[in-house]
This record gives sequence, structure tokens and C-alpha cells, in this order.
Amino acid sequence: MNIRDITLAPSGRDKIDWVKPAMPVLSGLEREFRKTLPFRGLRMTISIHLEAKTAYFAQVLRAGGADVAVTGCNPLSTQDDVAAALAAEGFDVCGVTGATMEQYHEHLLGALAHKPHLIIDDGGDLTEILADERPDLAVNLIAGTEETTTGVHRLHSRAKAGTLPFPMMAVNDAKCKYLFDNRYGTGQSVWASILHVTNLVIASKTVVVAGYGWCGRGIAMRADALGAKVVVTEVDPHRALEAAMDGYTVLPMENAAEVGDIFVTATGCRDVIRKEHMARMKNEAILCNAGHFDVEISIPDLRALAESVRQRKPSIEGYYLPDGRVLNLLAEGRLVNLAAGNGHPAEIMDLSFAVQALTAAHLADIGRTLTPGVYNVPERIDRDVAVRKLAAMGLTIDVLSSGQRAYLGF
Ligand code: NAD
Ligand code: SAH
Repeated sequence: MNIRDITLAPSGRDKIDWVKPAMPVLSGLEREFRKTLPFRGLRMTISIHLEAKTAYFAQVLRAGGADVAVTGCNPLSTQDDVAAALAAEGFDVCGVTGATMEQYHEHLLGALAHKPHLIIDDGGDLTEILADERPDLAVNLIAGTEETTTGVHRLHSRAKAGTLPFPMMAVNDAKCKYLFDNRYGTGQSVWASILHVTNLVIASKTVVVAGYGWCGRGIAMRADALGAKVVVTEVDPHRALEAAMDGYTVLPMENAAEVGDIFVTATGCRDVIRKEHMARMKNEAILCNAGHFDVEISIPDLRALAESVRQRKPSIEGYYLPDGRVLNLLAEGRLVNLAAGNGHPAEIMDLSFAVQALTAAHLADIGRTLTPGVYNVPERIDRDVAVRKLAAMGLTIDVLSSGQRAYLGF
């Protein structure tokens, strides 16, 4: 165990108690798992943003019989009180708020020392350590799951290069994940963080969203709802067309740089905002990132351009340029919704973690029959989660008649 302060546990427990009623699908699974014990006798290591919804997810896995080690998946997103609450319940927890990269790495290793049968990763750091650095800790490993888009990309690259030594399921690619988590979750929580950190008005401002994927669509939609003028930058012609048809202005970053007041990157790519763009930006422009890692906005370029850097407010660093302009970077260029906020709302993580929980149970059952590679979540699980969520929301839908099924060729 490696946490900041166990006496913070009561505050963490309050946070977990607050999110539980908003996670009814996970609560239903908790009740079922207590009876069926899908993880009896298995050890699990989970590396997910260590905050209240993740803590509840860990409790559900334990209800299913798992012995769970928990760590974060980003050096800035761990919440010390939540980590303390889990540690007080006997979970093996490694993670502190504002970890250095060395500490972060040490915490991932600490959670892997559990020698898990199943891993749940978010972003691919845990997988990388287990595959490349400490394969000895994978002795018991049956399989794992991956939570996010970039993590799945990294898995496919590994599989292609022949360096993925175990089976992994791409939870991100389930409809119950990306349609809601990436779009509505990121859409809301990115703006919740920007609003909280800056305390500035969004209406009338020009917001530049880089990347019109599932996250970018959500971020643009919510910026629009807040009254912003939305500009989208893209490299994919279909996504750019879609943004244009959705009513947004599409520009290359070179031109968007001159008009933007707030820039949000969500591409999973690197160096999307570089020095030639920064050179054209307005004084007091705000830059933040919602995509993987802290490489979408080139921080080395910002540093090279700036004469001085000063912390202006919590989670806002001002980069002062020799020509008198200041560019404001939020949350050190890491995922703004998690590094400077609580991430996606509970109702959204209810869906993502329900997919995770059922996929992990499926892997506990059949994982030993799989060869190394990247697998999709079975359609049956994806559908099951949607049906459970609709029921939890009190919604019913129509059912195809036999005549309709025949007409549609089912
Ligand atoms: P996606 O693949 O659906 O979309 C990414 C889009 O970015 C694509 O349309 C692509 O064409 C575009 N793009 C790539 N390089 C670009 C560039 N240089 N300039 C402009 N556009 C570019 O992926 P997604 O599901 O939207 O995820 C995006 C990133 O956000 C990933 O890194 C993912 O891991 C991360 N993510 C973050 C959160 C969060 O909570 N902040 C949630 C889910 C996913
Ligand atoms: N290690 C990477 C992870 C990408 S984060 C990094 O730090 O850059 C993106 C993922 O965070 C999403 O797929 C989403 O499912 C997850 N996420 C968002 N809000 C969350 C929350 N409140 N709790 C746990 N995970 C969350």
C-alpha cells in the first residue's frame, strides 16, 4: 500500500456514498455478483482514475469475490481521500494526488506486485509495464480489459508488432462505452472543469475543438449549448464534413489559432498545437487538453516561446511571451476534466463500469481459452448493459413482431 493519509478516509467514503445511487446498473451487478461470485479466488489489478466512481467499481469487483489492487492511470487524477477510503476497507491501494512520473510508475508497479489474474487498464501504461518491464508479474495473468481509445490503439500496435503477450478486450469500443462516455461524459466534464478553473463566461467566446471524434463531438456540442462560437480542426475528411454539417466552422489550426479564445484538444495525436500556432494566438488565450497524455499541446514549444511561466490560479499556468502576450495552460496540458476535476459524471461511469464488470466476469470464465490479441466485447454484453440502463432509467422501447423480424431478415 502507498497512499498519502489514511485519516482522509471519511471524506473519501462520503464521495463514494454520493455516487452510488447514481450508478444503478453497477448496484444491480453488485447484488448479482454477491451471489454468483464470478471472481472467486482471482486477484485483479485495476489502473483507472482513482476517484469515487472507480472506488465503487472496485467494491463491486470485490463483491464478486476478487482480491483487488487499485492504482490510478494518470499522475494528477488520483484523489487522496478516495484512495484512503479504499485502503481503510483493506484494498491494496497505490496512488497519491499530484504524483511525479517516478511515483506514478512506482504505484503501477506496486499494484502489479499483486500478480493479478485479470487487469483493467486505462490508457495502456499498466499493460506496457506488464508486457515489457515485469513479465514475471504476469505469471497468473488470464487476460485484461482496456478502457480508452488511445489504450486500444496502443494494444493494436502491440498486436501488430507481435509484442502483446496476453488477450485484452477493448471495452472502449463497446457502444455502451464510446457513445456515452467519450461523447456525453467528456462533453460535460470538460466544460465543468474549464468553468470551475477559469470562472469565465463561455457565451460569445470562440472555442476551437481539435479532433471531431467521439470526445470532440461532445465537447463541441456542449460548447455550442453554452453559447460559444465553435470552430473544429480535423485531419479526417469525413469527420470534418460531419462537423461542417453539424453547423460548426471548420478551419486548419493555422487559421483557428488566430480566432480562438479557448482551445480544447481531443485527438489522441501529438503536437496538435505547436509554436507556429501559439505565435498567432490572442493574448489571454486558454489552452487545454481532453485527449490522452500531455502531448497534444506542445509544452516544450510553449516553454521555448515563453520568457517566464507563472502559476496564475490553481490549475492555470501563464506562459508570458516577450511580445507581452500571455497564453494560459490548464492542468499542465493533461486531461482537463480529470486532472482539474472529477471526470465523467456517475451516471455515465455507471455504463462504462458495467461494461467493464461484465467483460471481466466473461474473461474470468473463458479468458483461458483465448490466445494473445485484441478482442471486442461480445455484443451480448453490450446489449445487456443498454437494456439494464434503460430499465434503471424507467424507459421502455418497442419490440419487433415476428412479421417485422421476417421482413428485416432476422
Ligand atoms: P476518436 O478516434 O473518435 O477521435 C479522434 C479524432 O481526432 C479523429 O476524428 C481524428 O481524425 C482526429 N485527429 C487526429 N489527429 C488530429 C490532428 N492532428 N488534428 C486534428 N484532428 C486530429 O477518439 P475519441 O474517442 O474521441 O478519443 C480522443 C482522445 O481522448 C483519445 O486519446 C482518448 O483516449 C481520449 N479520451 C479522453 C476522455 C476524457 O475523459 N478526457 C474520455 C475518452 C477518451
Ligand atoms: N492514462 C490515460 C487515460 C485516458 S483517460 C491518461 O491519463 O491520459 C480517458 C478515460 O478516462 C476515458 O475512457 C473514461 O472512461 C475515463 N474516465 C473519465 N471520467 C472518469 C471518472 N470519473 N472515473 C474513472 N474514469 C473516468
